[in-house]
Amino acid sequence: MYPEYKDGIIKDCKENYSPLMVLIENFLHISTWVLAGWLVWPVQLQGWPVLTIAWAGVVLVVQILLKKHNCSGCYYYGKACHLGWGKLARWIFMQDSGNLKTGMRLSLFYIVSPPLFLAAGILSGILMDLGMRHWVLVGVYVALNLLAFTVRFKGCKVCAMRKVCPGSAVKSG
Ligand code: SF4
Repeated sequence: MYPEYKDGIIKDCKENYSPLMVLIENFLHISTWVLAGWLVWPVQLQGWPVLTIAWAGVVLVVQILLKKHNCSGCYYYGKACHLGWGKLARWIFMQDSGNLKTGMRLSLFYIVSPPLFLAAGILSGILMDLGMRHWVLVGVYVALNLLAFTVRFKGCKVCAMRKVCPGSAVKSG
C-alpha cells in the first residue's frame, strides 16, 4: 500500500465486497462508457465514428493505467473492493508499482467524462437533428450515471479507503 494512504485507512470497513455488488457496479460503469460512445457515434469523419473510436481508446488506456497508479497502491490490492479491481490489479501489476500523483490525475476521468459526453450528446442531438431515439439515449445516459453514483456511494461508505481514495464518493470516517 502507498505510504501516503497508511494513516488514512479506516478500520471499520468491509474487507471484501460481495460478487453481486462487484457485478452491479461494473455493469453500471461499463454501460455508461458504452453509452457515451454511442451518443457520439453520429459524429463521423468519412464514415468513421472518430469520437467513439477515440473514446474507446481513452477508456482502455486510462482504465489500465488506473489499475497501476491507483489500485496497485490501494488497501484492497489483491482483494475484492467494491469494484473488484483490487484483484484485477494484482493479476496485471506489482504492488505499489504506480505513482499516486499520476493516479490522482487519471481519476479526473470519472469527473470530467460524464458532463462532457452529456454536453456532446445534447449538442449533437440539436445540431444534427438526431430525433427521439437519440434523446431517449441521452436520458438513459443521465439515469445510468446517477444510478452508478448512488451505488458507488453505497460502496464507498464502508470502504477502508474512503478517506484517502482519489475516487471516493465519501470522504468522512
Ligand atoms: S478501492 Fe478504488 S483504488 Fe482501491 S482497488 Fe478498488 S477501485 Fe482501485
